[in-house]
Amino acid sequence: MHRKTVHPIEHENPHTHSQSLESNTTPPGGNATAATVLDAKGKQIYSVRPADSIHHASEVLKEHNIGSVLVRDQNGHVVGILTERDIVRGFADLPGDTYTKRVDELMTTDVVSCGPEERLLDMLRKMTDGRFRHLPVMDGEHVVGMISIGDVVKYRLRELEYEALKLKQMIVG
Ligand code: AMP
Repeated sequence: MHRKTVHPIEHENPHTHSQSLESNTTPPGGNATAATVLDAKGKQIYSVRPADSIHHASEVLKEHNIGSVLVRDQNGHVVGILTERDIVRGFADLPGDTYTKRVDELMTTDVVSCGPEERLLDMLRKMTDGRFRHLPVMDGEHVVGMISIGDVVKYRLRELEYEALKLKQMIVG
């Protein structure tokens, strides 16, 4: 069996190449992009129409066990996003009337999205800065997927587990 020799660190000099933070620190998410996460989680896109009722939208959320739906017009263009938070807000404001309201009465119209090549870290920044947990992935005009903050965390955890396994294998040989 070939065993790798582990050399002790000679000096704790942060400026040598092999010890520099720049060369050894992988940014959170490494080189992963929105497209990488979509490959791992799937590209299902659930959407509703602006005139659909909130009752219908909440059934879609329940059926697919998701927290948001895209709102698309008859041509497939994204005109908004509706999440469970919008529905909860609706219930707090108008408890009796929320189910029968139209989706476009509660949705957010100013949708922030990312491209397939956007890096994980930048996606997380967008979500934390904007205080939301869902990001549609757009390739030009076309929606190609939907990523939640939970998908990013799940992907990153899998990556960390893999990195830990690789390190263990390097040490054990
Ligand atoms: P969330 O945390 O994703 O449930 O969303 C919190 C609020 O932000 C809700 O009012 C959503 O409609 C809105 N929201 C969610 N995702 C986005 C997004 N990608 N762009 C703009 N607004 C969003």
